[in-house]
Amino acid sequence: MLIVVSGPGGVGKGTIAELLVERHEKLWLSKSWTTRPRRDTENEEAYTFVTREEFEQAIDEGIFLEWAEFQGNYYATPWPDPPDNYDVLLEIDVQGAKSVTEHGLEFLMIFVDAPTVEDQARRLRGRGDNEEEVLRRIREGERERNDARDMGAIFVINDDLDRAVSEISSIIYPNPSKE
Ligand code: ADP
Ligand code: 5GP
Repeated sequence: MLIVVSGPGGVGKGTIAELLVERHEKLWLSKSWTTRPRRDTENEEAYTFVTREEFEQAIDEGIFLEWAEFQGNYYATPWPDPPDNYDVLLEIDVQGAKSVTEHGLEFLMIFVDAPTVEDQARRLRGRGDNEEEVLRRIREGERERNDARDMGAIFVINDDLDRAVSEISSIIYPNPSKE
């Protein structure tokens, strides 16, 4: 099974994705590549951080399932290579989810959102995004919500983190014995 967690910047997708893989033994989180510099607040393992040259070479080598340029930086998902019998979790933007659709792959799409745009802005500032990035991510969020609706995504509000993780868990694994 392929699961895509998407949503505007700062709503908590990354945090949720990490908690989901902690909670579900057979869930494998894909690690994206990016040319964005690592944030001070960010774990070194959050992405494979590379230069534009390294990224462009990897495009030529065909190692990406999808890639996109977002706010001046490249992001990509390598073709997933999970251990046998693992479900794959991708945490990507809506544009990336559309590219996955174009490969003809079927997936369950969860669109995570903050309770309000004010909460989203507070979370973005809290993790150190500058005001320009905050505004860009909020503007982008409006388009992403519309696209996600068109794609039939399931919307989940990340109000309380534990509650949102539980809601997503029960969407992915409605029958807990199959976890
Ligand atoms: P995204 O991956 O969607 O860009 P992050 O996972 O980086 O978002 O989360 C953005 C910030 O919001 C982080 O500082 C994170 O700790 C915080 N956060 C995540 N979920 C919640 C929540 N339910 N309530 C308050 N803060 C949250
Ligand atoms: P950030 O810089 O805040 O970590 O991520 C910016 C945006 O890029 C987010 O919307 C995030 O979901 C998206 N993103 C992260 N990894 C990928 C990826 O592998 N592919 C695509 N298309 N988008 C990604």
